[in-house]
Amino acid sequence: MKVNRGEKMISLIIPCYNEEKNIKIFYETCEKTFKNISIEYIFINDGSKDNTLLEIIDVIKNNPQSQITCLNFSRNFGKEAAMLAGLKESHNEFISIIDADLQQNPKYVLEMYKFLKKNKDYDCVACYQDKRKESKILTTFKNCFYKIINKMSEVPLKTNASDFRLFNKNIKQALINMPEYCRFSKGLFSYVGFNVYYMPYQVEKRMHGKTSWSIIKLFKYAMDGILSFSVIPLKFTTSIGFLSFIIAIIYLIIIIIQKIFIGINPSGYATIVCLILIFSGLQMIFLGILGEYIGKIYTEAKRRPKFIIKDKIKSNNIDMENDNEK
Ligand code: UDP
Ligand code: MG
Repeated sequence: MKVNRGEKMISLIIPCYNEEKNIKIFYETCEKTFKNISIEYIFINDGSKDNTLLEIIDVIKNNPQSQITCLNFSRNFGKEAAMLAGLKESHNEFISIIDADLQQNPKYVLEMYKFLKKNKDYDCVACYQDKRKESKILTTFKNCFYKIINKMSEVPLKTNASDFRLFNKNIKQALINMPEYCRFSKGLFSYVGFNVYYMPYQVEKRMHGKTSWSIIKLFKYAMDGILSFSVIPLKFTTSIGFLSFIIAIIYLIIIIIQKIFIGINPSGYATIVCLILIFSGLQMIFLGILGEYIGKIYTEAKRRPKFIIKDKIKSNNIDMENDNEK
């Protein structure tokens, strides 16, 4: 059976890392939700260490009527790489990125789809959490991140908006055309622009397994975001350097005046030690910031592939000719 490509359909991009218990239930939930809309499922097995790949293959085998593709990465490349691979693989009018753990209910994809069908001037609907269901520390950390990045970045980021969105082919192409290796999709979505409608949604509890994000990973991701979308940390170091230079000059003048006109000998061994410690600390921090940017340039300059696909498994009824579209 050949698929009628003229029909408007949704490509669902589903990055999967250790999601063996969620794959079947995810697929079944989607099938129940999208009764009248054809869906192209693109599962990306991002180097899972459990049986995620076998579970996806099982779903493909047991549902020959569905259009399912599985991209099996050669190792874990991260969710950003998985999303990019999914975008390159998708063929449809509308594309949605959704997690495999059912924290993002597929019913919202349907709502986003209906919205885009009705409102032709919009190109994308992005879901955001109006109430976060997580610890207060994490919420405070995330709010701080949005405040900082929105002060520094050239493009504003919508607070609490995720990758969970539905968008059209033009946005997909714009995202694929962004060549960077270090991808920070929240920023990339803002950078490409287009007309975006923000829709509130409720995150649900993870069906099975546990999140792959620790506080340290989140912190690194936040730093990556800031470094990818702003050079203000570099400018900040220059400003602090200038400020401390001017203060040092003023202090020097004061000391000379005191010595010549008032006859006070400058004292303060403790002050000198403190100042040396403060400024050597600041210099190390600034070198670190510089190092982070140089590290990014180094990574980008190598131009390594963002992911490596070991196998591509497709359900029978996918029109293989469409592979040339990429
Ligand atoms: N994921 C991935 N590669 C990774 C980490 C996560 O493809 O290296 C997938 C994961 O299987 C899930 C989605 O990205 O479908 C979101 O991950 P997770 O649920 O761990 O994040 P959280 O929802 O806690 O932010
Ligand atoms: Mg999750």
